[in-house]
Amino acid sequence: MTQKNSKPLGDEGPLVVVGGGQAGALMATFLAKRGHEVHIFESRPDPRLVDLDAGRSINMALATRGIVAMRELGVYDRVEPITIPMKGRMVHPEDGEVNFQPYGTSADHAIYSVGRHSLNAILLDAAEDTGNVTMAFGQRCRGVDWSRRMLVLTDYSNDEAMAEVPFDTLFGSDGANSEIRRSMQLVNGGSTSVHVLDHGYKELEIPAGPGGSFLLEPNALHIWPRGNFMLIALPNPGGTFTVTLFLPFGADDPDIGSADSFATLTDPQAVERFFAREFPDFVDLVPDLSEQFFANQTGDLATVRCSGWSHGDTGVLIGDAAHAIVPFHGQGMNLALESCRLLDRRLARYPYDVAQAFTLFEMDRKPDADAIADMALDNYIEMRSGVTDPRYLIKRELALELERRFPDRIAARYGMVMFTTMPYYEVKSRAEDQAVILDKLTAHATSLDDVDFDRAEQLVTQLGPLPVQI
Ligand SMILES: Cc1cc2nc3c(=O)[nH]c(=O)nc-3n(C[C@H](O)[C@H](O)[C@H](O)COP(=O)(O)OP(=O)(O)OC[C@H]3O[C@@H](n4cnc5c(N)ncnc54)[C@H](O)[C@@H]3O)c2cc1C
Repeated sequence: MTQKNSKPLGDEGPLVVVGGGQAGALMATFLAKRGHEVHIFESRPDPRLVDLDAGRSINMALATRGIVAMRELGVYDRVEPITIPMKGRMVHPEDGEVNFQPYGTSADHAIYSVGRHSLNAILLDAAEDTGNVTMAFGQRCRGVDWSRRMLVLTDYSNDEAMAEVPFDTLFGSDGANSEIRRSMQLVNGGSTSVHVLDHGYKELEIPAGPGGSFLLEPNALHIWPRGNFMLIALPNPGGTFTVTLFLPFGADDPDIGSADSFATLTDPQAVERFFAREFPDFVDLVPDLSEQFFANQTGDLATVRCSGWSHGDTGVLIGDAAHAIVPFHGQGMNLALESCRLLDRRLARYPYDVAQAFTLFEMDRKPDADAIADMALDNYIEMRSGVTDPRYLIKRELALELERRFPDRIAARYGMVMFTTMPYYEVKSRAEDQAVILDKLTAHATSLDDVDFDRAEQLVTQLGPLPVQI
């Protein structure tokens, strides 16, 4: 909803970013590099001064979209040294040998494990180093007076005392439970739908081996797929692995409640029995498993889809505040960082019409956010059961073989999401067309030797060119 016809960004005062996570820090850097004065307000303490997770390493998968956004600002050179490449999945099946499934067809088809707090610290430093960004921590947004362009904050030392901060334009990067979104939708007519998954997650850690060595292969993302649930592990510098158990909550469903679920893992014996039965090779690596299990919280996972990402030229949502997704494609942060790059591009294109830039940003980006939200949910099924299903495996092998033979006509869905900047919406639709072809070609195949590659060429040629990268 447009309030004014047009106005340049920042002509009525500073730009204010609420939330100093990955999206807030990177957006501030984009804005500062265009010469704007930017203030970041973040509710938590400065992660560069305080250990927010009591010594635990929490990591994430960084992929091309996030890297491209950071490269555009010259920030990735600082991030690269703290990343560990993961070139494929190391699958630990219930029965059978551990096996490695490469992510793509070339050596640079890798994703990168990166520590959440180390990355955040680098992004905040980069924002500060522009010379145009100031930051205040322990400052929680309580609401916004959009007509007066005033942000309402409280300081962590006194939750009662409200302060007002004027802004020209507000960037709401305050995460999945965004207060800016709530406040904006009171005035712009937008709406939010939150879908909470009936599976939750618990983070654990595999310690380093002697001399900081890795107890598992470090250049892989490890998966223990178990049908309805799974365990994954990503490496950290220093030899540890951050492990995540994804499992049904189960508490509210009598059918699920009797099967494996967080609801059944209520005492150390139950936890030890469960892990020993399901993940015997993992149990040997973690001597304090049940202590960790009960010390660490169980988290929930949600998809947030909303409309009304902006309010005229006064404010816009960015990152998880606009589009939070479940983590099974390792894309939430990558999506958030790419959104910062695309919003910056829109603002550069419409320097005198901020409201129009915001409107067009949402029009382009919302279909992409919805598409990756769907693909992330699909990928949970692929990770927890597909990676051991012979039908899935032959189709995946064929997709990679066709990609080698016809690189400008076909690309595996995983690769299009992780190793390109093709719009997610087009990736999803392209992958659906390719899936029809893969189904046809593998209908009676048990190995690639059974595939009719002449027919494959005809079918692949009928597909148009691959989506253009943005
Ligand atoms: C278990 C798990 C694993 C994940 N793994 C991956 C992965 O491998 N790869 C990937 O790409 N993504 C992953 N993600 C998603 C990723 O964490 C998010 O998409 C990303 O952090 C979004 O960044 P953001 O800056 O938008 O939000 P956040 O990182 O949530 O930052 C929001 C910031 O706003 C602050 N804030 C909140 N409310 C207020 C307020 N009222 N006032 C002031 N400040 C406020 C918060 O303290 C926070 O610092 C994962 C998510 C989960 C839950």
